[in-house]
Amino acid sequence: MPSASQRIPPLVRPLISERAKRTLDLVEKFVNEDCIPADDIAEAQIGEGKQRWTTVPAVMEDLKLKAKSLGLWNMFLAKGHYKEGAGFTNLEYSFMCEQFGRSRTASEATNNSAPDTGNMELIAKYGSAEQKKQWLEPLLEGKIRSCYVMTEPNVASSDAKNVQLSIVKDSDHYVLNGEKWWISGAGYPTCKVYIVLGKTNPNHPDPYKQQSMIIVPAGSPGITVKRMMHVLGYDDAPHGHAHLIFKNVRIPASNLILGEGRGFEIMQGRMGPGRIHHAMRSIGAAERALDYLLARANASHKMAFGKKLSEHGVIIERIAQSRIDIDAARLIVLNAAAAIDAGDAKTALIEIAEAKVFVPKVALQVVDWAMQAFGGEGLSQDTPLAAMWGHLRTVRIVDGPDEVHLQQLGKRENRRAREVQLMIQKQLDETDRLFEKYRVARGVDREVPRANL
Ligand SMILES: Cc1cc2nc3c(=O)[nH]c(=O)nc-3n(C[C@H](O)[C@H](O)[C@H](O)COP(=O)(O)OP(=O)(O)OC[C@H]3O[C@@H](n4cnc5c(N)ncnc54)[C@H](O)[C@@H]3O)c2cc1C
Repeated sequence: MPSASQRIPPLVRPLISERAKRTLDLVEKFVNEDCIPADDIAEAQIGEGKQRWTTVPAVMEDLKLKAKSLGLWNMFLAKGHYKEGAGFTNLEYSFMCEQFGRSRTASEATNNSAPDTGNMELIAKYGSAEQKKQWLEPLLEGKIRSCYVMTEPNVASSDAKNVQLSIVKDSDHYVLNGEKWWISGAGYPTCKVYIVLGKTNPNHPDPYKQQSMIIVPAGSPGITVKRMMHVLGYDDAPHGHAHLIFKNVRIPASNLILGEGRGFEIMQGRMGPGRIHHAMRSIGAAERALDYLLARANASHKMAFGKKLSEHGVIIERIAQSRIDIDAARLIVLNAAAAIDAGDAKTALIEIAEAKVFVPKVALQVVDWAMQAFGGEGLSQDTPLAAMWGHLRTVRIVDGPDEVHLQQLGKRENRRAREVQLMIQKQLDETDRLFEKYRVARGVDREVPRANL
């Protein structure tokens, strides 16, 4: 089989450096030979019961050492945007991220995993020199991990204007009170820092200037973990998703990021590249699901109605459709990554939203077909497919539900409507003029009802 760099679509090949191609092949080898075989070891080392929340799997530490020795570390921080990264563009990183998506351990093993990547970008972009020294450096080294703390149980949090957690100034401190849930990564034993969104100025007339972001050391007095959430029955330990209570949590004022009322602005800057990373990892997961589909469809020891599954028309058609859909989805993500490289996350809003909505649907469909091909086994713990489906399903909700992105995309597209109506009108007028010029009859069945425009 051609290597990952040889499979780069011809359209973008000229934009990928030789160094990125070499690294991509190294990533593919590391994921195939080290990470995928270690996935089940990591799960087994986490074990059962309370230990699930106190154990960093030993195999993960070994994978990290190997990744560092191979130079596979912090590739997400894009060239031209951050000086701290490995010097790859978003486009180049997208291919590596796809490889990470095929394994449960690969992203973390190379320090490219969410939510740390978005948090590191955030501190690198908006943090003060002291904040960078205290939090960014150990995060970049992979010594600690972090959480992004935005969603609340009592408000519709996809509209971030709704967040309620209060951040009140008290001399040289801020005091935090409120409740948050779905805080990914809070279970991790090495999670040492939270980036919290709340309101410092709830009465500001501009609803986008009420929010602020503050860096909160994990385990600060007043923070309690109410419970860990389950995703379709999975606890995702030791990473996990916490329901947290903040009660009179006192944090030094110097931990505020950028200044009061700047929370929304920071949030918008944080979201873009992360969505692309999720999308690219989803492509990787879809590719792995297709591998499983191929393997099962060609298993000669499990014939159905006298044939291998691949000899049944419907299955070979699903294989074909999976190939088409994955390749189309990949191009949408690459386009978004290239758009971020050409500008930034704000100028690439449309392309990012397109990828955010389109890719998980494709990946979920491919995983679903693979599960179906395995029959009962496909829904069990014996293949990675069921867990993969559970994770991919969350991508339609995290970082903003599909509907929010579709609203934005639809409204933007709809802005062209008047211009389009005028253009069509002009073309019809021109057709009328040409009818007269060439003296041909229009025929009654070709009359166009103009009033409809
Ligand atoms: C596995 C997982 C991990 C997560 N990790 C984190 C994390 O680390 N940190 C964090 O802060 N949050 C996290 N979240 C939370 C996630 O970001 C939110 O669930 C998401 O933003 C939606 O917010 P909500 O749950 O409050 O839903 P709501 O805002 O209540 O929305 C509910 C539903 O309403 C519909 N809806 C919303 N807006 C519109 C609209 N404009 N038009 C039509 N329909 C609409 C959608 O169907 C949406 O799903 C995580 C969630 C999950 C499931």
